[in-house]
Amino acid sequence: MIVWVQLPALKVHFYHKEVLTMLGNLIGRTIRLNYHTLNLHRAKFARLAVEVDLTKHLVPRIWLDDAWQKVEYENLPEVCFDCRRIAHSSELCPLNKTAAPQTVRAITGSVIQPGAAEQTVEEPNPSFGP
Ligand SMILES: [Zn+2]
Repeated sequence: MIVWVQLPALKVHFYHKEVLTMLGNLIGRTIRLNYHTLNLHRAKFARLAVEVDLTKHLVPRIWLDDAWQKVEYENLPEVCFDCRRIAHSSELCPLNKTAAPQTVRAITGSVIQPGAAEQTVEEPNPSFGP
C-alpha cells in the first residue's frame, strides 16, 4: 500500500532527492517525493509517498545523523496494532478482546505456577503504535 510519509523537522542538509529517496527506502519503497519538499523555501517537513507493507512493522523512526528522525504516516487506514491487520483498531481486535479475560480467569481460577504471569503479559512495544 502506498502512503504519504512525513519527516518532521528534517535537517535542511538532507533535502536532496537522492537522500530523501534513500530515507523512503528505509521505510518502504519510495514512490514519489512531494514537490514542495524539494523547494527549501516552502518546506517545513519532508513529505514522500512510500509503498509500505502493512502486514509488517511500520518504521516509527530512523537513526539519522546521531539522532532519531521521527516518521509520521498520513491517513493510514485503520490498522490493528495487536494483530497488525487492516480494517479494525486494537480496541475491536478479536484477538485482543477474547484473549485478555480468558487469561485472567485462567490465572485466578487455577493454581498459579511460578512464571505463569510473566508468560501471559507481553511487553508493550513503545516504538509501534498509533
Ligand atoms: Zn487485530
